[in-house]
Amino acid sequence: MTLVFEQIRAGGDRNFGYLLGDRDAGVCALIDPSYSPDAFVERARQQGMTVTLVINTHGHPDHVNGNEQAVALTGAKVAAHPRSPASPDVAVGDGQELAIGSLRLRCLHVPGHAIDHLALFEPTYKLLITGDLLFVGKVGGTPNDADARTEWDSLQKLLHAVPDDATVWPGHDYGARPASTVALEKATNPFLLAANADEFLTRKAAWPAFKKQLGLR
Ligand SMILES: [Zn+2]
Repeated sequence: MTLVFEQIRAGGDRNFGYLLGDRDAGVCALIDPSYSPDAFVERARQQGMTVTLVINTHGHPDHVNGNEQAVALTGAKVAAHPRSPASPDVAVGDGQELAIGSLRLRCLHVPGHAIDHLALFEPTYKLLITGDLLFVGKVGGTPNDADARTEWDSLQKLLHAVPDDATVWPGHDYGARPASTVALEKATNPFLLAANADEFLTRKAAWPAFKKQLGLR
């Protein structure tokens, strides 16, 4: 198996999507092609790979809005959590795997930012695609305290399920750099450094003022 893995700027609010493929098998998946499905499909085409899956990390409009065009261009199936508003052809729940040639992508259900949120983990190269659950130095927004607690639980579950040397590939370019590692986020991400769910909620509530103070975008 020869890995192809690209992080692609998809437009929108600094959205990131991904192309993940097995060059030997000649197949790939597009993850959240969102605002730029044609550019993602073109990247696959240039490398002689057929797009077999369009995978969504979650169903927010800025992550699923490119599905229709990506499918029209490729005939790929849409894979997402069963609760995704994108009505997936392939519904994948917690612990289930998606095959892309010889690649196996493990799906972890990590609700909080969105009820249908999946984190995607490729165990051979230890690639962790975190969507809007975990950004570089930040975590996904939540509309209320109950969802914030759910997000905290999802983060704990995720961090126990993957190794520290896994690389982190987020759904938006909100950090100081476009990607990270689990170890680096555990050591530096203020939200992961919270001692418990209550402290996590306090940090989330204080974030807008803190961000302003530090001059962060
Ligand atoms: Zn989102």
